[in-house]
Amino acid sequence: MSKKNDSKNEEMRFEHDPKGPIGEFFAPIAGYGVTISSFFRPTVTEQYPREPARVMPRFHGRHQLNRYADGLEKCIGCELCAWACPADAILVEAASNTPEAQYSPGERFGNVYQINYLRCIFCGMCIEACPTRALTMSNDFELATYTRADDIYEKQDLLVPLSDGMLAPPHPMVEGLNDGDYYRGAVSGATQSQIDWVKEHRPEDPSLANARVVAKEEVR
Ligand code: SF4
Ligand code: SF4
Repeated sequence: MSKKNDSKNEEMRFEHDPKGPIGEFFAPIAGYGVTISSFFRPTVTEQYPREPARVMPRFHGRHQLNRYADGLEKCIGCELCAWACPADAILVEAASNTPEAQYSPGERFGNVYQINYLRCIFCGMCIEACPTRALTMSNDFELATYTRADDIYEKQDLLVPLSDGMLAPPHPMVEGLNDGDYYRGAVSGATQSQIDWVKEHRPEDPSLANARVVAKEEVR
C-alpha cells in the first residue's frame, strides 16, 4: 500500500461523523446539556474529611489486638500471623506468663508485637492465620504519618483499649477455667477474686474503678 493511501486511511480513522444541520445548530450549546442533566442526578461527592468517609463493613484497615471480657489479651504469641504474612510485615516475640504476671490465658503472651505499615498490603492473611481471633482488622484507613518510623506500629498502638468493665492485665485467669474455656467464650467479665488480686498488687490501677464484677456462676 502506498504512503498516500496510508495517510488517507489515517485521516478517515480520526474523522468525526458529519453533523446534520440540526446538530450543527445545537453544537455550541450541547456541552451545557451534559451539565444541566447532571443537576438532577443524586450527589455522589463525599465531603471527606469534614464528614467521615464510608467504607464497607469488611474493609481491611488498621489491625487491632483484641482482649477477652476480663481484660486479658487474646494474643498468645504463637507467631502464626508473622509466618502467614507474605510481606514479612509482622514481628512477634513471645514471653512466658507467670503467676505474678499473667497477660493472656495459657502459657505465653505476645511480649513484642510490631506491624510495619510500610510493608503491609492489607491482604488479611495474618488475621486468617490467628488461632485465637486475637488479631483482626478495623475499618480505620487513616494511617498517614510524617516519618517512616511512625509507620511501625507497636503493641501499645494495636492493642484495643480496655472496654467498660475490663480489668487491666496482668492478673490471674478466672479461677477454674483454662485457655480453652476462654477461647470458647466462657468468660463474660472479671471475677471478684481477679479484682482482689489487682487491688493487692496494684492498688492504684485505674481500671479497678470500672471493672465490672461477674459472679463466678455467671462465668460458666
Ligand atoms: S494484612 Fe497481609 S501484608 Fe499486612 S500484616 Fe497481615 S498478612 Fe501481612
Ligand atoms: S496475633 Fe494471633 S497469630 Fe499472631 S501471635 Fe498473636 S495469637 Fe498468634
